[in-house]
Amino acid sequence: MKLLVIANWKMNPLTEKEVKRLFTSIKKGLKGRKNIEIVICPPFPYLSIINNLLSSIKLGAQDCFWKDKGPYTGEVSPQMLENIGCKYVIVGHSERRETFKETDEMVNIKIKEILKAKLQPIFCIGETEEEKKAGKTFHVLEREIKKGLDKISKKEIEKVIIAYEPIWAIGTKKACEENEVMTVALFIKKLVSRLYNKKVASNIKIIYGGSVDSKNASDYLRESKMQGLLVGGASLNSKEFIKIIKSLNNIKTYLR
Ligand code: PEP
Repeated sequence: MKLLVIANWKMNPLTEKEVKRLFTSIKKGLKGRKNIEIVICPPFPYLSIINNLLSSIKLGAQDCFWKDKGPYTGEVSPQMLENIGCKYVIVGHSERRETFKETDEMVNIKIKEILKAKLQPIFCIGETEEEKKAGKTFHVLEREIKKGLDKISKKEIEKVIIAYEPIWAIGTKKACEENEVMTVALFIKKLVSRLYNKKVASNIKIIYGGSVDSKNASDYLRESKMQGLLVGGASLNSKEFIKIIKSLNNIKTYLR
């Protein structure tokens, strides 16, 4: 199983010139690296630009709608993303849930449609600071997983990547403790085993996101046994992003 590192550029950078500069610099710095699956998720207008510059780096989108086509002003379908070369789609990111009021039910429909389009969903879950302080972390994660994966078959779940992203750790430089991440990952595995079976739970890919940088990245793989990382802010700095990837060399100790 390859490690997975996903760069979520969010609504950045501002110009096409900066996009090309950032991507080319990452591509150059990571040339020849085959042991890690690297995915760049730029804003929609830059997907084709990056696809044309693509190397072994894979392309992902930050969101999508759940219809193929039609009168849905402003939306982008999973089919369209597949057609222009995407392999992954981030879904249920906390910024979508918070700012755009996306519900667990909406996330569930999106996951189903992403899978139908033969793309891999990167399904984000995580608790807020208040929920954590109130001791509700596992309750929140259980709800998000049960509703988000509702009526998704054993076969389909193989393609789903679960990204644990504690909301209080996103963009705050307050990264989650490695042992906490490990505890959450074990909880997710147990829940998936209950909802599906042991084999599914052992194979499901769980990644961590939230203030990852080149200093803590390898600890999430070594100590928390994550199978990958979702990197926001640090992926907009090519030197830092390359450093993150290089720090993960030869790590194979993930959770099964
Ligand atoms: C994210 O938004 O998915 C994320 C992980 O952001 P950051 O790395 O900036 O905390």
